[in-house]
Amino acid sequence: MTGEQRRVLGYPIAGEPVEHLPLRPLWLCRRCGQPWPCGAAKLVLLAEYQDTPVSLFLYLAGCLHDAIDDLHRLNPSETGSAADMFDRFLSWPARHTRSYRVTTVGGI
Ligand SMILES: [Zn+2]
Repeated sequence: MTGEQRRVLGYPIAGEPVEHLPLRPLWLCRRCGQPWPCGAAKLVLLAEYQDTPVSLFLYLAGCLHDAIDDLHRLNPSETGSAADMFDRFLSWPARHTRSYRVTTVGGI
């Protein structure tokens, strides 16, 4: 695991400032306060997982699951939109990686 992965995944290196990590259970960025993953976190995640985009989706799916649990526990009466949560965690990397693009052979 690289130092950058440790920071993104929540394992800061001693002596270094915490980067754009999720502040649980609020799921806001610890550094910039935006909903996580913020723009900076997305850039780091895309760079770190550029050769293993499926792993990025698996990681983000786990984050989505945890975020739904955390946010529901904080405020059960305001669960928010499932579509918004899906878009926040899982739809954005599909626009930036090749792994989710469907290609057909022979015009099927
Ligand atoms: Zn941030």
